[in-house]
Amino acid sequence: PAPDTKTPEVPVELPGHELVYTGKVRGLYAPLDPATGERDASRLLLVASDRISAYDHVLDTPIPDKGTVLTQLSLWWIDQLADVLDLPHHVVSTDVPAEVAGRAIYVRRLRMLPVECVARAFLTGGGLAEYAATRSVSGVRLPEGLSDGSRLPAPIFTPSTKAPVGEHDQPISYEQVVEIVGPRLAERLRDLTVTILQHGNEIAGQRGILIADTKVEFGVDPAQLAEALGISVEQALEGEVDWAAVDPDVVDVVLADEVLTPDSSRFWRASEWEPGRPQTSYDKQVLRDWLTSPASGWDRASDTPPPALPDEVVELTRARYVEAYENLTGQPFTVPSPSAS
Ligand code: ATP
Ligand code: MG
Repeated sequence: PAPDTKTPEVPVELPGHELVYTGKVRGLYAPLDPATGERDASRLLLVASDRISAYDHVLDTPIPDKGTVLTQLSLWWIDQLADVLDLPHHVVSTDVPAEVAGRAIYVRRLRMLPVECVARAFLTGGGLAEYAATRSVSGVRLPEGLSDGSRLPAPIFTPSTKAPVGEHDQPISYEQVVEIVGPRLAERLRDLTVTILQHGNEIAGQRGILIADTKVEFGVDPAQLAEALGISVEQALEGEVDWAAVDPDVVDVVLADEVLTPDSSRFWRASEWEPGRPQTSYDKQVLRDWLTSPASGWDRASDTPPPALPDEVVELTRARYVEAYENLTGQPFTVPSPSAS
């Protein structure tokens, strides 16, 4: 995809780096070797922008500091999870170029597993629709009488496909995950995803936040994968891989992407939680309420992009992200200053 020049906070040009991918929210850069100018194939710089999406649209108006809040929150969660879970993660260093200080991390470049790993602790959204039709979600049978916002007896794994840019991820059953990555990896992905949400909720619950559901992504080290399967590192990185041949006790499944952030999860305020109706979104409610109000002049059903946000909506939304960070971590939010190097 073409670099997005509308987002000044994610530079298109970053000295010593080459932009290799622009996602909806983040940019991925390959560091260049200062001597040869060649790409470092083992690392990536993951830069979070201040872009925000609502109702399937990425808005034109950024939310200042959102990228930094999400990056710092993700790092904090990785620390918390490391205390309870013996799980390798992709973070290499937070010592990043000054232009992107706070909003970026260097990570191990991984071969990503071709499944979006979703877990749900509460019923809502797509899970609720499936439950209403079948009394189960992703093949997991659920009790009668649950409604929008109900807490599930235990968190469940509700994976989806990784859709190409511009398309929607489709929910899939556990059996389909087994078809894609084989039984051993499927089981590992399910256990890790559910455990992450479980631990996340134990911690967040003490701080007044419920994590209704979340999406995590995992990858494997291409060199390890190549070695285990007897293929080239190049193929392990970009080519076809026989995932069913991968033994997760030999090839480490590494936590990548972002972890338990408002972008990857649904956060609710515990004090406002009330099953039986749609819950208020911790981070995006102000934005959604404004977009669907007459004040915005926007018709959600139309094909037109949403209008620019008024300053007040931007400020209130920013405050929500900062508040989520501060409540969860118990630390004041500050924009990290560029490191001296
Ligand atoms: P969405 O998050 O909505 O699915 P997206 O995939 O475009 O959309 P972004 O968050 O904008 O998401 O981009 C991040 C991209 O970086 C994702 O494609 C993710 O799979 C990839 N990624 C994350 N961590 C790593 C890593 N350690 N190695 C390689 N790729 C990674
Ligand atoms: Mg993403």
